[in-house]
Amino acid sequence: MNTSTTVLMTGFITHDVKRFILSKPDGFNCKPGQGIEIAVDKAEWKSEGRPFTPTSLKDDLVIELMIKRYPGVGSVTEELHKVKAGDKLLISDVFGSITYNGPGVFIAGGAGVTPFIAILRDLAHNGKLDDHSLIFSNKTPADIICEKELKHYLGKRCIFTCTRSSGTGYESRRVTKDFLKEKIDDFSRHFYVCGPETFVKNINTALEELGARSDSLVFER
Ligand SMILES: Cc1cc2nc3c(=O)[nH]c(=O)nc-3n(C[C@H](O)[C@H](O)[C@H](O)COP(=O)(O)OP(=O)(O)OC[C@H]3O[C@@H](n4cnc5c(N)ncnc54)[C@H](O)[C@@H]3O)c2cc1C
Repeated sequence: MNTSTTVLMTGFITHDVKRFILSKPDGFNCKPGQGIEIAVDKAEWKSEGRPFTPTSLKDDLVIELMIKRYPGVGSVTEELHKVKAGDKLLISDVFGSITYNGPGVFIAGGAGVTPFIAILRDLAHNGKLDDHSLIFSNKTPADIICEKELKHYLGKRCIFTCTRSSGTGYESRRVTKDFLKEKIDDFSRHFYVCGPETFVKNINTALEELGARSDSLVFER
């Protein structure tokens, strides 16, 4: 952890995800989809860095983060949800292997959508949203981060599925090999996969079985 940043504002965007706007340190440069480690700048927390993905773009004057809270003893996300405007956070250098390689399909589970929000915002900014689609799995509709923004970008090419309780306009199944076969016509495209570890592993396996090349799969390695 090497750079200090100030929290400018925070607010809930779902029942357990908060948006943070931070001052941007000089020289901060993060490609859409890359991550940084964040720690709360208090004696007992400053060595507890955790990875998050900025959803702000290169030319923005602030850093935006969307952070889901996992309650529990020693939970950094719980501590982050307590910080207020004016508090300090520590951020690391940028890292990560999720970067944009070309048109394709984004497949996200829960807070794993954050790198794709950054990439889609960048594509929207450059007028290049055509030929992209998103499959986004959550437990319930109330868990979907940036639902309206994502729909605005992709329209019908944005498929939401809710595995615990669903509703009109949402699929209600897990993302399995059959699901992918039904929703995707062309497996020679780029696939970007992000979410819990088993979600990423199962989807990558299914994509390869359906004909995707392993070098066309982009995920956090
Ligand atoms: C490169 C990268 C980028 C990330 N970007 C974001 C982001 O932009 N926004 C965001 O909200 N999260 C993001 N994450 C996930 C985030 O790093 C974790 O949620 C965080 O480290 C949890 O820390 P904690 O101390 O609160 O929880 P821990 O103390 O580590 O865990 C507390 C409890 O929550 C469970 N838990 C923790 N994380 C997860 C998870 N991801 N999925 C399911 N269960 C979990 C644990 O099993 C445990 O039971 C990213 C992860 C990586 C690797």
